[in-house]
Amino acid sequence: MTATAEMETRGEAARELLRAKLAGAEGVCVTCSFQAEDMVVLHLAREIAPDVPVIFLETGYHFAETIAYRDRMTAEWGLNLINVASAQSVAEQEAEFGILNRTAPDRCCAMRKVGPLFRALEEYRVWVTGLRRQQSKSRAHLQVEESFALPSGHVLEKLNPLAEWTTRDVWQYAETRGIPLLPLYELGYVSIGCEPCTSLPTDPNDPRSGRWGGQKLECGIHLQGQ
Ligand code: SF4
Repeated sequence: MTATAEMETRGEAARELLRAKLAGAEGVCVTCSFQAEDMVVLHLAREIAPDVPVIFLETGYHFAETIAYRDRMTAEWGLNLINVASAQSVAEQEAEFGILNRTAPDRCCAMRKVGPLFRALEEYRVWVTGLRRQQSKSRAHLQVEESFALPSGHVLEKLNPLAEWTTRDVWQYAETRGIPLLPLYELGYVSIGCEPCTSLPTDPNDPRSGRWGGQKLECGIHLQGQ
């Protein structure tokens, strides 16, 4: 089977899963960082549910390019975008606690990503992500279908339709469907989050080696709630 045929086979499997779970369903959302995987899974999900809520974690620390791309794609695709933010602005947080992304990134992620997302997810029952096993050793055991318990006890069905996809699958899908990608990839970034915590990868075999200066792999939103 050619690489393109493999990608199309994976695409059809993802489509089937999303059709089964999303068609006519209430309480579904997609989280989107506007990286390539999320654009692919969003493209697939919107074939079935064009108005699906798209949750973006507006941490206040994103690259200007990410925000510009988010706004461009929201307009071009007519996305039902929901910007989820922390209760404190960046200025308020830095005035009270200093620059936590330098001194205590886990705490910063908890305040600007994990807490706001978990609160937002309370009103949904199905959560679609663009996570893939190949992205990180911390994602090696990712399943296509999982359950996820929030700290409140509310349990969501978490769907990772691209769990088995390769990086090549993602880029081929985007290319064949004419999906423009975040311009930061052209500068050599391969995993893109908040600007202070994202650099070019230090290990070509580890796509997330440019995140948090190698100090950690996950912000916490994909770790099971406690
Ligand atoms: S990725 Fe960095 S800036 Fe963004 S919330 Fe986490 S620690 Fe803060």
